Amino acid sequence: MAILVYVEHIEGTFKKSAFEVVSYAKAIASEQNTTVTALSIGKVEDSELNKLVEYGASKILKVDQDQLKQFVNKAYASVIAEAAKAEQSDIIVLSNSFSGKGLAPRLAAKLEAGLVDGAIELPTTSGSELHVKKTAFSNKAFATEVVSAAKKVIAVNPNSIEPTKQEGSATIEALNPSVDASDLNVLVKEVVRATDKVSLPEAEIVVSAGRGLKGPENWGVVEELAEALGAATACSKPVSDAGWRPHSEHVGQTGIVVGPNLYIAVGISGAIQHLAGVSSSKTIVVINKDPEAPFFKVADYGMVGDALEILPKLTAAIKAH
Ligand code: FAD
Repeated sequence: MAILVYVEHIEGTFKKSAFEVVSYAKAIASEQNTTVTALSIGKVEDSELNKLVEYGASKILKVDQDQLKQFVNKAYASVIAEAAKAEQSDIIVLSNSFSGKGLAPRLAAKLEAGLVDGAIELPTTSGSELHVKKTAFSNKAFATEVVSAAKKVIAVNPNSIEPTKQEGSATIEALNPSVDASDLNVLVKEVVRATDKVSLPEAEIVVSAGRGLKGPENWGVVEELAEALGAATACSKPVSDAGWRPHSEHVGQTGIVVGPNLYIAVGISGAIQHLAGVSSSKTIVVINKDPEAPFFKVADYGMVGDALEILPKLTAAIKAH
């Protein structure tokens, strides 16, 4: 009856969201007097797997098969469902990441489970029901969903739960699930990351810029500020549509939804479609030369002025500290 958590890693190193979802599951497990089993797919050393123990996993299942080296939605969902059945888990927790967004509904369908995606707080329990707070309507509202189905799949937004360390020990077991060849029958395009820059959906700080930067030749000031802060870079939709930046950086209703501790918006007007992707940010700083720019209405801090003058000074000041 353990709670099953699917944990994501990049080339054998767990993402921060892995520790967040284990902490999330551990909090539910403590209320329900049960334990947490973490499931990792792909090559991860035992020393890395053991880090999950610090956040509350008391059993770790590792699936290390060559055919599952790359993420394939159908196959991964089958493996997680098989592990959930083997562990008799009624609750399955995973991150609402790129892959989690695809996995969660497929998993819920396979297990005939109730699904909540975009969870942002620990749930409260009422009998066998879970009351889960989540974002709704492109992050413009919050909802509390009551999941009464016997089985439940919960996808937790990255950066919304603070991972909590605790004492404990765990066993590591190898799992060798049978994978249906048709589940692997997908053309996978491997995108090799050319840099070790911070991943945008999980970044704690994001420096994002819009059309106010005038052109791609001016992005150096954005990258320098991001580097000084250890931040990920992002942009508004017109910027990626114009090819100034890759589409993977486009934030908003039709792009990536982020929820960092700090979102710095530079030369972005603050259209509602952009705000839909950033409204979960804990602190928003806006830099815009127009004091009437709508983004200032949702900003915690604002600077009115020319971004191309402000950014180098800000970077220099940060480097000096
Ligand atoms: P602009 O609106 O042109 O704003 C540029 C800003 O830069 C202005 O506020 C200006 O004052 C400021 N500025 C100019 N020069 C300087 C300077 N030197 N220094 C400082 N500031 C300066 N947009 C998204 O971002 N994400 C989405 O997901 C998205 N989805 C959409 C979906 C739909 C269906 C539609 C219709 C639109 C969507 N949009 C989205 C587009 C959105 O409506 C806005 O058009 C877009 O966000 C504007 O981008 P921007 O702020 O970079 O540019």
